Amino acid sequence: MAAYKLEASYRCDQCGKQNTKRAADVRRAIVCGGGLFCDKVCFGLSRRKWLTDEERIADRKERVRLYGIKRREELADQIKKQKADYFKRTYNPKSAKIERAKRMGWHVAYMREYYKDPVKKAEKVAYDRERRDKAKYGEFWECAPILRELEEDIRGRFPTQYERMKARGYYLTKTKGSNRCLTATM
Ligand SMILES: [Zn+2]
Repeated sequence: MAAYKLEASYRCDQCGKQNTKRAADVRRAIVCGGGLFCDKVCFGLSRRKWLTDEERIADRKERVRLYGIKRREELADQIKKQKADYFKRTYNPKSAKIERAKRMGWHVAYMREYYKDPVKKAEKVAYDRERRDKAKYGEFWECAPILRELEEDIRGRFPTQYERMKARGYYLTKTKGSNRCLTATM
């Protein structure tokens, strides 16, 4: 045995058996934190995760799930385009209307519940109004409330059709079975 080849003893990290190895190898394993083993069998066993079948399946599912999230982020633009193409290709207004109608009951119930809160209701009314104004007037949407106020003011200065008809006595002279205004012919 050559003088430089110092032997050092160590315990296997897997089975705990006492072994000897070249001192330099032992030192390197300690410095690098690689672990020391009897042979490839003990090393291989140390690499096992010792999961039950259920744990192994759950572990794999979780890794697949995370990979899916990562991939969808990477391919976001492509996926969006694919979905838009699919929608264009398959959209049928008639069947879509039927599908929407199925959900209408739920929607009405939901909105009734929603409108019970006066704060939420005020917010929703303001939001809807702003959305309609933007759709109708585009970049000038901020002028819409002023226009609305003006229109209401003008309308308020003139009597409505109901008020005009009432002033003419329409509702007083209306006879049973007839919608005609008798005073008009008198
Ligand atoms: Zn061992």
